[in-house]
Amino acid sequence: MNIHEYQGKSILKGFGVRIQEGIVADTAEQAVEAAKQLQAETGTGWWVVKAQIHAGGRGKGGGVKLAKNLDEVKERASQIIGMQLITPQTGPQGKKVNKVLIAQDVYYPGDTPTAEFYMSVLLNRSTGRNIIMYSTEGGMDIEEVAEHTPHLIFKEEIDPKVGLQGFQARKIAFNLGLTGEAHKEMVKFVTALYKAYEATDSSMFEINPVLKTSDNKILAVDAKVNLDENALFRHPDLAAMRDETEEDPTEVEAGKSNLNYVKLDGNVGCMVNGAGLAMATMDIIKLAGGDPANFLDVGGTANAKTVEAGFKIILSDPNVKAILINIFGGIVRCDRVAQGVIDAYNSIGNIPVPIIVRLQGTNAVEAKKLIDESGLQVYSAIEFKEAADLVTKVLAK
Ligand code: GDP
Ligand code: MN
Repeated sequence: MNIHEYQGKSILKGFGVRIQEGIVADTAEQAVEAAKQLQAETGTGWWVVKAQIHAGGRGKGGGVKLAKNLDEVKERASQIIGMQLITPQTGPQGKKVNKVLIAQDVYYPGDTPTAEFYMSVLLNRSTGRNIIMYSTEGGMDIEEVAEHTPHLIFKEEIDPKVGLQGFQARKIAFNLGLTGEAHKEMVKFVTALYKAYEATDSSMFEINPVLKTSDNKILAVDAKVNLDENALFRHPDLAAMRDETEEDPTEVEAGKSNLNYVKLDGNVGCMVNGAGLAMATMDIIKLAGGDPANFLDVGGTANAKTVEAGFKIILSDPNVKAILINIFGGIVRCDRVAQGVIDAYNSIGNIPVPIIVRLQGTNAVEAKKLIDESGLQVYSAIEFKEAADLVTKVLAK
C-alpha cells in the first residue's frame, strides 16, 4: 500500500529521522494558516507547496513550488489544489490533487553548500536480505543514474541476524563524502531510517532527495513509502493511512468483496481461481488473439456471491468484449461454481457480452451439463485450449 509524502514523513519523524517539516492542507486558506504555524515553529521565511499524490516526479510536473511570502503560498496552493497533475509516473491522464503539504524551505544559504543524496531501503529478493541503496546523485531520476552512471549507486546489504551495524552506517556516510558534523548526522539518519523501515514492515522507503543543509544537517525532503499489505493487520495506525481516492475505484470495490483484481487495458475480462492460473489464463487469451482486460483471482472459495461480484466488476469496464471464466475445481466443486455462474447471470440480468466458462477438476462434467442446459448465452469448455478457441471465435464475431 502506498501512502502520501506527509504520512511517510510523519512515520520517519516518529523514529527520530530528521525531516523537512511541513503541515498538510486541503484548501488555500488552510495552506496560509499552515505556513504561519510553520513559521512560528521553525522560523522559516520561505515555504514549499507540495502536491500530495501517490506518484513521484511531482517537481517536474509543476506540483512542487517555492513560495517566498504568504500571498505566494495562497496563490500556489490554490493553483495546485484541484489540478490534474501529470508527472512521468502518473500516465497521461494525471492525478487529481486533493491536498498540499506546506513545507519549510530547507535549501537556505549558509556556511557550506547544500548537497542532495538518494537513499532507499528495500528487500533484495535474490538474497532475501534488506539493502540500503544510496547515491551521491540525489534529487534526480534514480533510473537515469542507474543507466548512465551505475558506479555512483552503492548498496549495503543487511544481515537479518544482527541488523544494521554501526560500521555500515559509517561506511555509507563516508561513501557519500561526508565528514565532521554531517557525517555524524548521516550515521544517525541511516540508523533511524532503517529502524523505521523494519518496524513498520515496509517493502520500500525511498528518500529522494536526502538533503545536507548548508548548516550540515541531514534530513528527508521527500518520502516515498510502500507498506506491505500482508502485514497491515499488525499496524492499524498505518492501515488507517490508506487513501482510497488515490486507488483505482474498481480495485477498491473488488477489495471489499475479497477479490484480487488488477485492471488492465485489454478486451477480454477474466475470472479465475488462483493467481498462477490467472497468469496462465492471461497468456492463453493473448495466444488466442485477445488482450486481457484484467487480472482477477476469486480465491479458493468461489461461490455464487463471489462470482456475481466478479461479474459486476468486470462488466463495469466498457472495453470488455468477452468474459472468460477459468476455474480449477480442486477444493471447490465445479458444479457449485457453475450454479454460481448461472445464479449470478440470472441475478444481474442481461449480460451484454459472451461468456466462456471453462471448469476443470472435481465434477467438471456435471458442471458443463448444468451450463449447457441452463439456456443462457454461455459457452462451456473443459479443456483450456477449447476455451481459448472459443475466445477467438467470439471475438471474431
Ligand atoms: P518529487 O518531484 O515528487 O520527487 O518531489 P520532491 O519532494 O523530491 O521535490 C522535488 C524537488 O523540489 C526537490 O528535488 C528539490 O529540488 C525541490 N525542493 C524540495 N523542497 C525544497 C525546499 O525546501 N526549497 C527549495 N528551494 N526547493 C525544494
Ligand atoms: Mn523526490
